[in-house]
Amino acid sequence: MSERNLLIMGAAGAGKGTQVEFLVEKYGIPQISTGDMLREAVASGSELGQRVQGIMQRGELVSDEVVIQLVEARLGRPDCLPGFILDGFPRTAGQARALDALLDRLGREPLRAIWLHVPDSELLRRILSRGQGRSDDTEEGVARRLEVYRKETAPLLDYYAGVLAEVDGIGSIDEIRGRIEQALAQP
Ligand code: ADP
Repeated sequence: MSERNLLIMGAAGAGKGTQVEFLVEKYGIPQISTGDMLREAVASGSELGQRVQGIMQRGELVSDEVVIQLVEARLGRPDCLPGFILDGFPRTAGQARALDALLDRLGREPLRAIWLHVPDSELLRRILSRGQGRSDDTEEGVARRLEVYRKETAPLLDYYAGVLAEVDGIGSIDEIRGRIEQALAQP
């Protein structure tokens, strides 16, 4: 495989952002974060931003159609040719199927998926103490995000079983980075 087409899964608070930063740097591939793209839309006050703001605030999912369109436009850009790292997408079975169809249509190599696994009690503690000031990081917002993750996104672990590496997300940043590197070094 010459392309590095990666997907990182993990609930809110699992530490995806930190590890994605290192993958971007190590492999020279862009991060595709639907959460970031949606927050940019909200910040810009665009029509899309106005439409999704309340949904995000409540910790609900934006419609598959909207996020699939964002990812489709982003994946078609030339900086994604050597590979990319999807972060926060797909989050539903419909998004996963649409992604497969899109990669197929673009003639891309298969994905490898990393599951950053952190127990729920630790997730809640981390988000509520990280104090980044994200407006959806309220107790209700986070609880709803974790609930939606369990219901809609966790089933994707089965969908990606054949290409998935489970990485223990408890430990220091460097320890976890080492585990991810090790998982990706496996053929
Ligand atoms: P976290 O992983 O911390 O919950 P994200 O930045 O990935 O946060 O997403 C923030 C919010 O953006 C989600 O709660 C949801 O409202 C919306 N969102 C992001 N990605 C998707 C997606 N793939 N499908 C639907 N909604 C999404």
